[in-house]
Amino acid sequence: MHESQLRLLMFLQDLLFLQKEMQDFQVVEKYEEMGFPLDRKEKIEEAIREVTEQLDRDLYHRFQQLAKKYDRPMAPVKKGVCYGCFVAAPTGSKLITQHKDIIEFCNHCGRILYRTD
Ligand SMILES: [Zn+2]
Repeated sequence: MHESQLRLLMFLQDLLFLQKEMQDFQVVEKYEEMGFPLDRKEKIEEAIREVTEQLDRDLYHRFQQLAKKYDRPMAPVKKGVCYGCFVAAPTGSKLITQHKDIIEFCNHCGRILYRTD
């Protein structure tokens, strides 16, 4: 069984966030003081490569476009409201990936939506 594309995207979003955090010198220094391994940056890069290899190409492309625009390219949707832009009834375009996962995008802000209800 392949991993769900949505789960991979969420994982990727978190990895990119952690990668960004590692670019902050003060954060890195703090981690070193706390005794975290120094190859953490390489491990994150490796994980990013692994995740992107498993992602649908079209989907990955859209994610990258969104990541340039937003810190968090994905948003939860609850009771029909996108928590990225807070516009009601956001469900817009859908993308069916090569793995037959259905990914939804917000009509308003374009973020990739994941349901919490
Ligand atoms: Zn939105």
